[in-house]
Amino acid sequence: MTDEFIKDNYQRPIISLRITITNRCNVNCLYCHHDGMVSSKQEMTADELYTICKIAKNIGVKKIRISGGEPLIRKDIVEIVEKIGSLGFKDISMTTNGTYLEKYAQGLKDAGLDRVNVSLDTLNRETYEFITKKDYLESAKAGILKAVEVGLYPVKINMVIMKDINQNEVKDMFKFCKENNMVLQLIELIESENCDDDKFSADYHYKLDMIEERLADIADEVYERKFMQGRKKYYIDGGEIEVVKPVDNSTFCANCSRLRITPDGKIKPCLLRNDNLVELISHIRNGESDERLKEIFLDGINNREPFNK
Ligand code: SAM
Repeated sequence: MTDEFIKDNYQRPIISLRITITNRCNVNCLYCHHDGMVSSKQEMTADELYTICKIAKNIGVKKIRISGGEPLIRKDIVEIVEKIGSLGFKDISMTTNGTYLEKYAQGLKDAGLDRVNVSLDTLNRETYEFITKKDYLESAKAGILKAVEVGLYPVKINMVIMKDINQNEVKDMFKFCKENNMVLQLIELIESENCDDDKFSADYHYKLDMIEERLADIADEVYERKFMQGRKKYYIDGGEIEVVKPVDNSTFCANCSRLRITPDGKIKPCLLRNDNLVELISHIRNGESDERLKEIFLDGINNREPFNK
């Protein structure tokens, strides 16, 4: 099956492209790693994003994930999804905080979006405000329910687990997910460039191993997602929990099939590094040929190496 994919120098197929379409956000999560972010406002146009996805499609990428910042902050978000959707990918998904999703879910679905991951670390209003600095819990929940209603499927809830903040809320969040036919995705906290790393880690990092052991004990079935960083899925009582552990995890890296694009148009070969980015957008703006753009993409792929070996 993997033979149809382009592979990096470590024989890892490149299946998905995650594009950060803006670095603007309407919340300010205390842990946010600002994935591939730059400090000043940086955005690519809908046409530029289309060109990037067209080249990605040509080299065999099957899936696109649209992320941010907050992607729904862009007024042209439906147009962006429509343009990318016209290229015929197997799967187009979005990661959002959900606060504008009630307004956009139907339009996005109609434009070709297949599914969403919504970040929601807690169902408790005070904890939500502590994490995001905003009072948007109810809007996020309304957005999530709207996404389910319009048939974006599956809706996954991204819950970053933090020590002494929400580690005891997994059961409640799983109940909320099960009741609404959603998947719960537990994410291990990654050190953030925003914070004093040592202190940040000591304060909030919580290893997911203990939670996973408990899940393994009670699961009806466990499944390992080969091309999605070896993540495990636990099927429990008719519900589903997926666990994402990027920290010090060689299995995560060995099974990583994802390339990224930063909001200022650079190829980012690895989630956990910012020192091997490859400039892309200036070449598109200079009108380089598709052939040349493809070569630049291949440079990005050649820069990939497992962060944890
Ligand atoms: N604004 C959108 C959202 O809230 O989903 C998309 C951007 S956000 C950076 C994408 C995902 O990265 C979210 O699910 C968030 O929880 C996760 N994330 C951000 N910082 C993280 C960190 N330090 N450790 C683990 N996950 C993190």
